[in-house]
Amino acid sequence: MQGLTMDYQLTLPALLKRAEDLFGKREIVTRLPDKSFHRYTYKDFVRRSKKLAIALGELGLEKGDRVATLAWNQYQHLEAYFGVPSAGLVIHTINPRLKGHEISYILNHADDKVLLIDETMAPLLAGFKDDVNLERILVFSASGDAPEGLQSYEDFIEGADESKFEYPTLDENDAAALCYTSGTTGRPKGALYSHRCLCIHSLLVSMPDAFGISIKDTVLPVVPMFHVNAWGIPFAATMIGCKQVMPGPHMDPESLLDALEREKVNFTAGVPTIWLGILQILDKDPDKYDLSNLHAMGVGGSAAPEAMIRGFEERHGLHIIHAWGMTEMAPVGTAGYLTPDLLEEPEDVQYKYRAKQGIQLPFVEVRARGDEGFVEWDGNAMGELEVRGPTVASSYYESPEGADKFTDDGWFRTGDVVSIDPRGYVEIRDRDKDLVKSGGEWISSVDLENSLMGHEAVAEAAVIAIPHPKWDERPLAVVVLKEGKNATPDELREHLETSFAKWQLPDAFEFVDEIPRTATGKFLKRALREQFEGYELAT
Ligand code: AMP
Repeated sequence: MQGLTMDYQLTLPALLKRAEDLFGKREIVTRLPDKSFHRYTYKDFVRRSKKLAIALGELGLEKGDRVATLAWNQYQHLEAYFGVPSAGLVIHTINPRLKGHEISYILNHADDKVLLIDETMAPLLAGFKDDVNLERILVFSASGDAPEGLQSYEDFIEGADESKFEYPTLDENDAAALCYTSGTTGRPKGALYSHRCLCIHSLLVSMPDAFGISIKDTVLPVVPMFHVNAWGIPFAATMIGCKQVMPGPHMDPESLLDALEREKVNFTAGVPTIWLGILQILDKDPDKYDLSNLHAMGVGGSAAPEAMIRGFEERHGLHIIHAWGMTEMAPVGTAGYLTPDLLEEPEDVQYKYRAKQGIQLPFVEVRARGDEGFVEWDGNAMGELEVRGPTVASSYYESPEGADKFTDDGWFRTGDVVSIDPRGYVEIRDRDKDLVKSGGEWISSVDLENSLMGHEAVAEAAVIAIPHPKWDERPLAVVVLKEGKNATPDELREHLETSFAKWQLPDAFEFVDEIPRTATGKFLKRALREQFEGYELAT
């Protein structure tokens, strides 16, 4: 027997309609390239999103065609987030930190028809324009101007008749958005999200036990809209009717702190690198910024070190919510909140748990597979994390490569090596390829890195495996020291000795000015391995 409830389709236009009906007066604020603020209301945002949908419709694109963006977090980009899918098209956000040939590969693979690009990113066009087949390039600028030979987005939407817009009837399984993986292994591959996926994800991340955002909140996504939809925050915030603050191109710690204070932001989110930078500034001058309105900061993308979580909480009263996710999961999969039994535990235990990646969101299922089948949830046994759920990719877009990431029984293999404890907390111990395999035992590079970053002189640390004649591989720690601070290898080894067995300690420490990063800000271990190829460890 079937239930007697409506087969209502979960689609993004329904969220746009909700914003139109309910939140007209709420504000959307953007920091423009010249550092001034652009302000308008949801009413303006909805009107302009509809105009974009109409103007795109008039280009004669077919349902499901892709419209690419290369843009910062800003109001026109938000219009594209809703206007493009509301025209039955797919918004394809591209990371501007990629190289020209990578951008052209992605544009060609996705067969994008239109590109919307920030004025400040227009110089990137020279690196790929001749290698792609775009029908239109439209330039986002607050002034409405465009560089010579290009059309401005403002001109493009100006003539569109908003009254012609009708909320479309779409299937919730229709494609709405496309993001490519950062391609640390092989070619970048497309994760193609349905309307249903993005709507469910919006509900999940807003929950009190995830990002916990409500209509009373002002949110500022630091995580870029070109990286997995800014973790779905623009969709969720619009669904809820939050005031939204967009940092534009100004992602440096001082500009962010200024915007957080000025706009009285309640929730923000970004990768650990950003927060490490912010923590250093706050530590230097704790009274410079009034962040009393900030009730939580979502941190993910790579591991949030316990020392950072503690530093914010203990020294500045700021609360970090650690979350884990992937492009292939739209992206948030787990969140690190504390269950009531943990709230009874000593603070030290609570911090240990908050540094784990957290508990699966509803409908996201997790399991970990070791060499001999699925591992126990005992907090020790390590295995590759597999996930399934309504927000998880079922295959890559037009790519036979990567088919092996999907199991025969319908789970996705994340490539993250984890342990899961009896309470269900997932802890990432490594990326499959980054584990150090020493004498048949695994050493977690992430555990070493996090501990090193807890040393008061260390700004950043990455650990890689170096081939070793006897042990197969041994860890090398590559360390960036904080400005004006010093530490010797012996001091760092001593620091690690309190939490690691002798055989797990790095054989060597190298001090560098910076650690290479991927376009999404993660340590680029591949480049580091190349940099230290042939490195001789004392045997
Ligand atoms: P991306 O698809 O670029 O978002 O990268 C996803 C990968 O980032 C995951 O598979 C993890 O390896 C890593 N990652 C994301 N969040 C975390 C986190 N909180 N802690 C550790 N690693 C993370």
